[in-house]
Amino acid sequence: MDLGIRGRRALVCASSKGLGRGCAEALAAEGVDLVLNARGEEVLNTTADALRRQYGVEVVTVAADVTTESGQASVLAVAGDVDILVTNAGGPPPGMWSDWSREDFISAFDANLLAPIALIKALLPGMMDQGWGRIVNITSVAVKAPIPVLGLSNTARSGLTGYVAGVSRQVAASGVTINNLLPGLHDTDRLAMLDKVDAAAQGISEESARAARTASVPAGRFGTAGEFGAACAWLCSDKAGFVIGQNVLLDGGAFPGSM
Ligand code: NAP
Repeated sequence: MDLGIRGRRALVCASSKGLGRGCAEALAAEGVDLVLNARGEEVLNTTADALRRQYGVEVVTVAADVTTESGQASVLAVAGDVDILVTNAGGPPPGMWSDWSREDFISAFDANLLAPIALIKALLPGMMDQGWGRIVNITSVAVKAPIPVLGLSNTARSGLTGYVAGVSRQVAASGVTINNLLPGLHDTDRLAMLDKVDAAAQGISEESARAARTASVPAGRFGTAGEFGAACAWLCSDKAGFVIGQNVLLDGGAFPGSM
């Protein structure tokens, strides 16, 4: 299927690796020019080179921490007006409810609530003026089924979900869609880090922690960044203009509810 977005321009945040890279790659495969962002310049440039070579699209990079106001300003200055925005950042660390301080919550809000809101607020007017735009936020299965050790993530991402529910409907008539993609377990560096934390907490090997995690997924495996990116590209496509304010779960069947 031609997704009808060839020649469009997308800002994909936190996209040198993992799910962000998966989204960038799927958009590049559809002929979308890219603005890529991550903090580490080396991996970011390697990713940009790979996507330019493979897909022949224009790729520019901004090495910046997207969770800070100065990082957002740098990203926005390079991006200019874009047609597509994919928000993303690293997830908060796991922990215990009794340990989380005010500062821990503020860091989580900066990364997973206020950064996407700032980018949306900056880029929405241009999209509305041109009568077309796509915004996809990478959130988490945690907004549907909270993960106890990821309380900082549960809290921040639930806030973003509420924000998107309202704003997406306020702007829907302008031709701009805003939706959230909710990853369940996907095979990225983030998951390897969580395996390490679980293994240390339970006194088991990382392999055992990973096996236990895999067993929780009805599909019997973790998702891939490629599968995640394909869903993102579809939500960003011309075909998905009637999809407004939705929370699309990609979790291999792990969430046990009927809806
Ligand atoms: P990942 O493999 O660790 O990749 C994270 C990417 O984001 C890297 O490119 C990293 O590059 C960049 N990044 C991190 N912090 C950044 C910042 N402050 N500013 C700019 N770029 C930043 O992680 P992932 O698995 O793709 O996860 C992406 C998001 O999905 C996270 O919020 C995670 O919590 C959430 N999530 C993931 C899963 C899963 O199973 N993988 C499940 C649920 C939710 P630099 O380090 O160089 O900046």
